[in-house]
Amino acid sequence: MNVLVINAGSSSLKYQLLNAISSDILAKGLAERIGQKDAQIVHVRNGDDPVYISSEMPDHKKAIAAVLSVLTSEEHGVISDMSQIDAVGHRVVHGGESFASSVLITPEVKRAIRSNFDLAPLHNPSNMTGIESCEESMPGVPQVAVFDTAFHQTMPSKAYMYALPYDLYERLGIRKYGFHGTSHSYVAKRAADILGQPFETLKIITCHLGNGASVAAVKDGKCVDTSMGLTPLAGLCMGTRCGDIDPAIVTFLMDKESMSTHEVDEMMNRKSGVSGISGVSSDFRDLYVAAGEGHKRASLALDMFKYHCRQFIGSYAAAMGGVDAVVFTAGVGENNSDIRLGSCEGLGYMGIQIDPYRNAAVKSREAIVSTDESRVKVLVVPTNEELAIAQETAVICGAKLKS
Ligand code: ADP
Repeated sequence: MNVLVINAGSSSLKYQLLNAISSDILAKGLAERIGQKDAQIVHVRNGDDPVYISSEMPDHKKAIAAVLSVLTSEEHGVISDMSQIDAVGHRVVHGGESFASSVLITPEVKRAIRSNFDLAPLHNPSNMTGIESCEESMPGVPQVAVFDTAFHQTMPSKAYMYALPYDLYERLGIRKYGFHGTSHSYVAKRAADILGQPFETLKIITCHLGNGASVAAVKDGKCVDTSMGLTPLAGLCMGTRCGDIDPAIVTFLMDKESMSTHEVDEMMNRKSGVSGISGVSSDFRDLYVAAGEGHKRASLALDMFKYHCRQFIGSYAAAMGGVDAVVFTAGVGENNSDIRLGSCEGLGYMGIQIDPYRNAAVKSREAIVSTDESRVKVLVVPTNEELAIAQETAVICGAKLKS
């Protein structure tokens, strides 16, 4: 079953065509600078070098049409015609409280996604444009929405409520939603498979550490807490995002520095995190180079990141009454052994013991990096959100996946 996975942003659209049964990627790419004169598609046919195809893409509908034309073209294509696309899976960032799982897109589902525009003003409108463009270009092909927030909908109210006046939750939906849910769910299930134990019996802490970073507590197959909140700004400090801070800092800065809401928002989202602390970069590779050359603030930023991660691991072990496995994923978690080591440092009393040699040897592949004696298993599991979206889409569309 071939599934086209679409992740539509405001001026770009990522796509991947995969076989949801075999997990084979047929092609993937990015339509970028949609709406501009120099719009192009960067297209990668499985195993080939990327090709750059200039294409007129004044809007998302034209971008989808251009992607479909590349996928079926003689020169760069991988399928002979559109009938070989069985379904489309859309990444949708915010499902609010309306969606606890992926759904087949219907007019009612679209209304519900629209009702969550306020909660994700930068993402949901673009996601909806992607959906409507596909509906127009591929009539009759089933479309499925897979939400970043859905996996976290099992959190109990004591975990997702903020201690603010209750009517803010009722009127405005102000609560913790959590993000990266597709990734947390995928790596937690993979970890259970790797350990050969039923997902529904394990206490797993998943650490998705990329440019954006979040940690989730997954007990008996269900998310019971996660570090991001109403928005993806909360939790760990990140590449450029501040993560959890004293909320009074916001009003303090608005008073003292006469900052506007927009300026504070920009500062917290784009000028903070390890970039803001180090003054060097949001990229962890740059931070390690700088720290190696004696840059103190780069070292501080790395120390803070590891400390935050360790705090969440401790906190979520407490939330679940124990932990069986800690899983690292995403750009930093998959590739950076020092961040993994530092995030678990001193947690031996909880039964978490990383094997430094095993850990140092693992980059971007599935592996257990704890010692044989470690009661809690520590794993690296590369995330694969596209595959997870394709598999969800196939399940919703009724395909029988091999387990
Ligand atoms: P996002 O999807 O949130 O943009 P990623 O999951 O791609 O982010 O992670 C990006 C981060 O991963 C960057 O900070 C980068 O430093 C880090 N990263 C990527 N590859 C490596 C690597 N080989 N070694 C160390 N860090 C890496």
